[in-house]
Amino acid sequence: MSALAEMTTRPAAAERLTSWRLLMKNRLAAAGFFLLLAIALLILLVPLLPLPDPDATAPAKRLQPVVTAGHLLGTDQLGRDILSRLLWGTRVSLALGFTATLIAAVIGSTIGIVAGYAGGRADNLMMRAVDMLMAFPYLLLALAIVAALGPGLMNALYAIAVVNIPFFARNVRGVTLGLAHAEFIDAARLSGKGQLSIVLTEVLPNVLPVIVITISTTAGWMILETAGLSFLGLGAQPPQADLGSMLGEGRAQLFTAPHVSIVPGATIFLIVISLNLLGDGIRDVLDPRLRSGTLARPGPMTAIAKDRQAPANSAPDAALAIKGLETGFTGGDSFVPAVNGVSLQLRRGECLGLVGESGSGKSVTALSIMGLVASPPGLIRNGAIYLDGEDVLSMPEAKLSSCRGARVAYVFQDPLMSLHPLLPVGRQVEEAVAAHQPIGAPERRKRAIALLEKVGIPDAHTRAAHYPHQFSGGQRQRVGIAIALANDPDIIIADEPTTALDVTVQAHILDLLRGLQRERGMALLFITHDFGVVSELCDRIAVMKDGEIVETGETRRVLSHPQHAYTKRLIACVPELGTGADFLDRVSGLFAARQREGSA
Ligand code: ADP
Ligand code: MG
Repeated sequence: MSALAEMTTRPAAAERLTSWRLLMKNRLAAAGFFLLLAIALLILLVPLLPLPDPDATAPAKRLQPVVTAGHLLGTDQLGRDILSRLLWGTRVSLALGFTATLIAAVIGSTIGIVAGYAGGRADNLMMRAVDMLMAFPYLLLALAIVAALGPGLMNALYAIAVVNIPFFARNVRGVTLGLAHAEFIDAARLSGKGQLSIVLTEVLPNVLPVIVITISTTAGWMILETAGLSFLGLGAQPPQADLGSMLGEGRAQLFTAPHVSIVPGATIFLIVISLNLLGDGIRDVLDPRLRSGTLARPGPMTAIAKDRQAPANSAPDAALAIKGLETGFTGGDSFVPAVNGVSLQLRRGECLGLVGESGSGKSVTALSIMGLVASPPGLIRNGAIYLDGEDVLSMPEAKLSSCRGARVAYVFQDPLMSLHPLLPVGRQVEEAVAAHQPIGAPERRKRAIALLEKVGIPDAHTRAAHYPHQFSGGQRQRVGIAIALANDPDIIIADEPTTALDVTVQAHILDLLRGLQRERGMALLFITHDFGVVSELCDRIAVMKDGEIVETGETRRVLSHPQHAYTKRLIACVPELGTGADFLDRVSGLFAARQREGSA
């Protein structure tokens, strides 16, 4: 059994990665975590260890080198044991750094949440105060605060905490601001919850990841800053040791006895780098998008399994033939199939409807055709896609790119998502033309306007200069169709192009697609969950369920004599005028059938 096949046989529950396992999979973060854990254990145990007094001087034993009897890390300029001072000093530095982080986090996040949630004048006042703090270089500000309060550990702690408040306040305010007007907060308000309770139960849990991420990424800095203040003599006061003051004292012996400064220096380095690595790891684990690999930069085409089996093309004269397609998503070492051995043919000039409920794998099938499923996490494990008899999946990348848009074009569900919000629509159509046709700008412009006219945008000449948000949903979808038509493709794949539109606009768009398809002799793969739409538009129907095609055939045949029980139920779901109550009965029958299947 191949490794991949083995993966799929595991039950789904075991495939879900816990945050802990994810963190441990990130080698660097795991290394940081264990290093910090070791340091933390060590400094907690310091009082129990048989160490000499860190402050006891012994002038006779000054500057002993590393690995001297009784002094593992040697002694400093006053003859004090460096190992003992290091461990006690690390205790002080870490306690200081973490306390400062916590103070900054609590005060900063509170400011951020209150400002973001209250808005208006309170927000303005608080944020201007925070801005004032941010207007100074922050180490300089910390220096000024310590200078005003007087040197000492506690004052260094206050200074570091104060200068870090703005980072928390700004970050948290930004997130809270977005949440304050979210629907679920409005819903909580409508349900009669008090302000404080909303902040604590609705807002706080949603900003908590941001706070944790900010803590984990700033803790390293805080420790560095406290060490910096002590290094300058403003933090720990002699004879007390902390990492910064040890480094500062060792500076004078840098050349005669370098170990005195190298030991605390290296410790600071190790602590800060492990904190940062761990912080990065925690950030990745807490962000569900990073977790699934969605934010990883997707490759130029869907990943294809090395041991892919490509069935031979049994329909050499079809415009598009999909054979035994298996596409799925990898997560960690698991593979979850979304499309399971789908075979389809699209003949030249025909309209094929791909119907199925949402989540049945229609979009993944459509995107697989041009290798557009994002990888990671997408993976085509088996199958072949023959475009005019040539296997798309074995094409080199450049060739595949040249087919996208030119031979196979897509129209997506939500044109507001697929259109660039900051470019006039005319320019976007021009771009589509320019991608495949080397023609001059004036000619391109003419072509774009002609295309917009073709899809029924009135006054296309002026409208071409308008932005997507200035169009209605139906008009935006027309623009999407114009872009798909830009290079006269042989095949158009329309993935639920009318789902976001109301019924009358939907009828217009369907008319337009049908007309264009007939006029240009294109093949149209029309994806929808709506049997009603398919019966109007398509020559043939393929019904998809749970990643498999359960039935294909001529539209009329499938509608009048559906073979598969699932098809029958889908057809029963098309409402007819005047059958309201009856329709609901049919739909609830469908629902019950689904549940029976689920429990079986
Ligand atoms: P539809 O038929 O509604 O278009 P899709 O093809 O989008 O359905 O999805 C098919 C299946 O693939 C669904 O179960 C969905 O959860 C899964 N899926 C889609 N995209 C991803 C992804 N990026 N990561 C993991 N699973 C995905
Ligand atoms: Mg879909």
